[in-house]
Amino acid sequence: MSQPDVIYQTDALIAQDIDAYLETHQHKTMLRFITCGSVDDGKSTLIGRLLYDSKMIFEDQLAALESDSKKVGTQGAAIDFALLVDGLAAEREQGITIDVAYRFFNTEKRKFIVADCPGHEQYTRNMVTGASTADLAVILIDARKGVLVQTRRHSYLCHLLGIRNIVLAVNKMDLVDYSQARFDEIVADYGAFAASIGIEAFTALPISGFAGDNVTQPSANTPWYTGPSLIAHLEAVPVRGADDLARPFRMPVQWVNRPNLDFRGFSGLIASGTIKPGDIVRVLPSGKTSTVTRIVTLEGDLDQAQAGQAVTLCLADEIDCSRGDVIALADAPPEAADQFDATLVWMADEALTPGRAYWLKLGTQTVSATVRAPKYVVNVNTMEHLAAKTLELNAIGVAEVVTDKALVYEPYAQSRALGGFILIDKITNATVGAGMLNFCLRRA
Ligand code: GDP
Repeated sequence: MSQPDVIYQTDALIAQDIDAYLETHQHKTMLRFITCGSVDDGKSTLIGRLLYDSKMIFEDQLAALESDSKKVGTQGAAIDFALLVDGLAAEREQGITIDVAYRFFNTEKRKFIVADCPGHEQYTRNMVTGASTADLAVILIDARKGVLVQTRRHSYLCHLLGIRNIVLAVNKMDLVDYSQARFDEIVADYGAFAASIGIEAFTALPISGFAGDNVTQPSANTPWYTGPSLIAHLEAVPVRGADDLARPFRMPVQWVNRPNLDFRGFSGLIASGTIKPGDIVRVLPSGKTSTVTRIVTLEGDLDQAQAGQAVTLCLADEIDCSRGDVIALADAPPEAADQFDATLVWMADEALTPGRAYWLKLGTQTVSATVRAPKYVVNVNTMEHLAAKTLELNAIGVAEVVTDKALVYEPYAQSRALGGFILIDKITNATVGAGMLNFCLRRA
């Protein structure tokens, strides 16, 4: 799904550091995860500890932190990890996190990108942005408070957005005397809810981000807990890439690379599968086929490329292919359709106007689309389906979406790249909704 508002905070890593980081740890697999929870559940503290323990902190930041924590930090803490993450960001002044911040760290086994998602209810949009690319979600719970409306809401969104690895981190265990009874109670509570929305499995951990229990090391304070520490679990879960690799080849075309009359290539990020020179591909929606002659990258030509790589493909024939088209394995192409059943998350103050035309962006395709009145909206507290005429801010509902041109798509459950979309207001250019295509109602 597109990410409209991704920011790289200056107090995390800047772009060149990200490149250097990715290069240094190239041989390791990468896990993308998000942290969710209500305000004050301890997300910033936990992320701060993960970064600190993996030494991904700049020294000048550390110095500033030590003096800062003396001034405003939580009493008694030598270093307040929450300050480390929040840094000088405006969120500290406002008291709430308002945008997704991506941070990078690594261990000996794996590299990680964590999207720090806001806890405040009105920022569903940021959560959806962060969750749409994540392999795993850490749902934080304050052990004193237990499962809250926000916990349910975030878990539901994570599940909807296709995250299959859910970690229930019962935090602030130090404040409930590391009570196993309290932990078990919360896990049972969450388990009942999780089952009701179709979450088949989750991993529960008793932690204290503040004191460090079970974050990077097993804790002597919880002898009754025999599972892995949070970091050991994050190092061991399967990454999503494996699914994408096993599926047929698809590459949405980002642009046509034609520097001179002798070279014409199609550039994009491979969404799924693998490709080699000699493979027969089909360009959609036209349906024309051709053979791949070269796979060009900045590092030279490749013998094979796979999901997650950005490449330029050269084809044997001069066929029509432009931005928004999808190049796919000839024998197993995706469908094109112009009417869909979709799940929508509404993100604008102004409610959805059924029948009004919005821009719909799906990968590199942009078409005009209308949304019909919702079939239902979901009450995230009770999971009931309720009748509704529109979608208000933060509402999650199911509706028919009709596009003015055929979209090459796959159901979101199979492909985030070809099944996730955003809706844009044609006048203000603001992103007003995010959606997932469930199934097609009319083939094009
Ligand atoms: P966020 O709003 O979810 O990012 O929460 P913060 O990380 O800012 O934490 C909110 C407050 O809870 C701060 O005062 C933290 O020091 C405190 N806190 C976070 N984790 C723990 C913990 O495990 N134990 C205790 N005792 N306090 C914690």
